[in-house]
Amino acid sequence: MNHTNCKEIKYQIVYKEIKNLYIQIKNGEVIVKAPKYINKKYIEKFIEQKREWILEKLEESKNIEKDREYTKDDVEKLTQKLNIIFSELVQKTKLVPNKIKIRNIKYAWGSCSSNKNITINLKLVDKSDEEIRYVVLHELCHLRFMNHSKEFWSLVEKYMSNYKEIRKNLKNNR
Ligand SMILES: [Zn+2]
Repeated sequence: MNHTNCKEIKYQIVYKEIKNLYIQIKNGEVIVKAPKYINKKYIEKFIEQKREWILEKLEESKNIEKDREYTKDDVEKLTQKLNIIFSELVQKTKLVPNKIKIRNIKYAWGSCSSNKNITINLKLVDKSDEEIRYVVLHELCHLRFMNHSKEFWSLVEKYMSNYKEIRKNLKNNR
């Protein structure tokens, strides 16, 4: 049996003047915002359907609480690594970003905007060079494809044949 199915989800119901039911995860708590007319059975069913998503979000919020404090030294260290990695990959791919920023982001390792600005998550300072390299490559490839299409992934693969493995590791141990 999948172990996530054994876990009972505790939640709080808040009735409001709204049309649709929705779930909020706040400080590790599940809050269901519900319209006044809705019955409890319906809410239970809704929670059950969203089980996987809720458990995932609860896990994420736990990890955020565990976050360590980052210092100037961390920024410095990651900046140095990024300088090397970006210059190598920009040369190889000929994909040139406008600006590169380092930020402590919650839900992504990196991001790329339509004006070609790339943001890299400061948390990567704790990851291996290979993993940092993958994130940089991923965001550079978004300069050509602003989506996760087949074309996008084959571009990533062209410059990093084992990217799937690295990506999986990054997902599993954040
Ligand atoms: Zn992406």
